[in-house]
Amino acid sequence: MPDRIESESRRLLGRLRAVLAESGAGQARLDRVVELIAGSMRFDVCSVYLFRDAETLELSATEGLHPGAVHKTRMRVGEGLVGRVARTRQVVNTADAPAARGFRFMPETGEEVLASFCGVPIQRLGDVLGVLVVQSREKRECSADEIYALEIVAMVLAEMTELGAFTGGDGTALGLRHRRPVLFRGTAGQEGAAAGHVWLHEPRVVVTNPISDNPEHELVRLREAIDSLRQQVDEMLATAVTVDAEQVAVLETYRMFANSRSWMRRMEDDIASGLSAEAAVEKEQSLSRARMGQATDAYLRERLHDLDDLSNRLLRILTGQGRETGARMPDDPVLVARNIGPGELLEYGKRLRGVVLEEGSVGSHAAIIARAWAIPLVIHAGGIVTEALNGDPILVDGEQGLVHLRPEAPVKKAFDDKLAMLTRAQEQYAGLRDLPATTLCGTTVSLHMNAGLLADLPSLPSSGAEGVGLFRTELQFLIRNQMPKRAELSALYARVMAAAQGRRVAFRTLDIGSDKVLSYMKPQDEPNPAMGWRAIRVGLDKPGVLRMQLQALIRAAAGRPLAIMFPFVAIPAEFRAARAEFDKALARERILGHPLPERLEVGAMLETPSLAFADESFWREVDFISIGGNDLKQFFFAADRENERVRRRYDMLDVSFLTFLEGIVARARASDTVLSYCGEDAGKPLEAMVLAALGFRMLSMRAPAIGPVKHMLRRVDLRELRAVIEAARPGGGTIRPALEAWLAGRG
Ligand code: PEP
Ligand code: MG
Repeated sequence: MPDRIESESRRLLGRLRAVLAESGAGQARLDRVVELIAGSMRFDVCSVYLFRDAETLELSATEGLHPGAVHKTRMRVGEGLVGRVARTRQVVNTADAPAARGFRFMPETGEEVLASFCGVPIQRLGDVLGVLVVQSREKRECSADEIYALEIVAMVLAEMTELGAFTGGDGTALGLRHRRPVLFRGTAGQEGAAAGHVWLHEPRVVVTNPISDNPEHELVRLREAIDSLRQQVDEMLATAVTVDAEQVAVLETYRMFANSRSWMRRMEDDIASGLSAEAAVEKEQSLSRARMGQATDAYLRERLHDLDDLSNRLLRILTGQGRETGARMPDDPVLVARNIGPGELLEYGKRLRGVVLEEGSVGSHAAIIARAWAIPLVIHAGGIVTEALNGDPILVDGEQGLVHLRPEAPVKKAFDDKLAMLTRAQEQYAGLRDLPATTLCGTTVSLHMNAGLLADLPSLPSSGAEGVGLFRTELQFLIRNQMPKRAELSALYARVMAAAQGRRVAFRTLDIGSDKVLSYMKPQDEPNPAMGWRAIRVGLDKPGVLRMQLQALIRAAAGRPLAIMFPFVAIPAEFRAARAEFDKALARERILGHPLPERLEVGAMLETPSLAFADESFWREVDFISIGGNDLKQFFFAADRENERVRRRYDMLDVSFLTFLEGIVARARASDTVLSYCGEDAGKPLEAMVLAALGFRMLSMRAPAIGPVKHMLRRVDLRELRAVIEAARPGGGTIRPALEAWLAGRG
């Protein structure tokens, strides 16, 4: 970059800093800014457009256009050249604006005489806040140096907008990003509703000094920060688990970027032009985020993601803000994150009121934990991480998958009513805790809870559950960075049994694969992981872990009764092989002199249709069968349980699925096999009631679902319900509308 340009840019930024430091209302400041840019850079017009709401840009200040157009001229994102800059986050630079694609004539601004147009996005970390525009009568394109200078200015404007430097005289902000209410439509991950305040998992780094008049000092700061960054990356590489090729590959990419000369040179140029070291890092980060949004190549996107992570680290080093920004976590935190791992979620603990993710899936590890804790969760809330600020009021509707950020009073009021209703209902359910789930016709259904963490167990007595119908042992594996040891597992299972105080706990052996991936196991590249190498298939092919787990369970029982079940058994041979491993483990423990369980139950999970048709001998062999309805349903309808598009198409209350379940109930009866249902549907009152009518006498569900299900069962006569089901049967399809009409008729 030529020295002349650098010193001009520095002079402009120096003046800009003086303007921004002046006291007075934001509008006056913004007016001075556009006047300064037009004058210093010799343009006829300089204007700033800021977002008024998510879709609308508004002319907020101008030098050269008709002053009466300020706060009147508006355009939607994508509309006109200004809207195009905002949408694409790319510079539009043309010597003949009226001939340019998308040009929109705005008579109120008096711009018909202007030939050239150059618009630059005002963006901060990929979040577009507005557009900076310069225009002139003369037909000329801006030079690369001029565009660079405008980008530098836009960067400073973005920082100052974020810091609230352009607040209007009446206290309202110019540019309403981060201030207006926004509704996000995501996907329901865990039911429930929560009101609270935003807590960002990755807090936004606040840069308070975008401009510097001492480039030498800033260069030294940048170089020192880069040195620390390289050191951090080297340390991460040294401690990385080398068997995890993917983790090592990411860290190698980090190292490559941390040593990249071109990245460094661009930031050095930015500093020479008058930006502080922090602002230089952010400017490059914003540009790479804009590229990330455009990249169609997955590999390139991933690499830009890596660069983004690295820039965040560098910013934290420079600002000394670390993860700890000094902000205090609100008393009612709702966690907002792009995505989160189970271990990180566990660190926050149950104090979270809700969780909102931009990515993630219903079957993600985080979702499993949020569900186990009954924390409302919404996933796929696109854009919330850049829109939300720490401390913003937020409402999470886990049932509808909706998130209201900075809600208006009427929305908040309606939400509060909903919360009060849910609380009243919970109180009502608490009163049922010690009562049996006995229907009006005298049938008792045994209700159990699903669990997976030690932290779930305290809710066992208060939930009214008779025991744990499904203990997902893989959660303990998922929350660690390395394979747990046998002694650790054994101690943990012993604590689970102690907490259950003699109630039955059905331990499901490790169910990994599909979406449940252990960071310390070699990742499998499978075309269709849900139907791939998972659960008992892994356990039998690599029996070391299964054996270790079985041994840990036997030792934990220390003579007490023990119930275990194997996941995803598709054919009797798999069950028999797993059972043989268990028998071998028992024999070994006997030889070692450990006490054996006084009573044993060994069951299988029925999660593939094939097992329903297994030979009679199998049905007589198993001590119990537990239907994993989540998986069974996905294979019955051939609809991926994690694909929101197809998942919702098929209803568990479809006549075909109910008929299938009836067949299973009949087989269980004929072979005198204990049968339970432990998929998510068992925890929904309507579905639970139908399962009871089909003959299920044991259901296992999320702990908070026990109250509502018990409440429903105690008010229904299964004979009447059966008649409604029969009446709705002809013609096929879902019987849900018929059931809802029947329930509505009964008030
Ligand atoms: C199921 O598939 O229904 C089940 C209970 O297991 P998971 O949800 O853990 O796969
Ligand atoms: Mg399953």
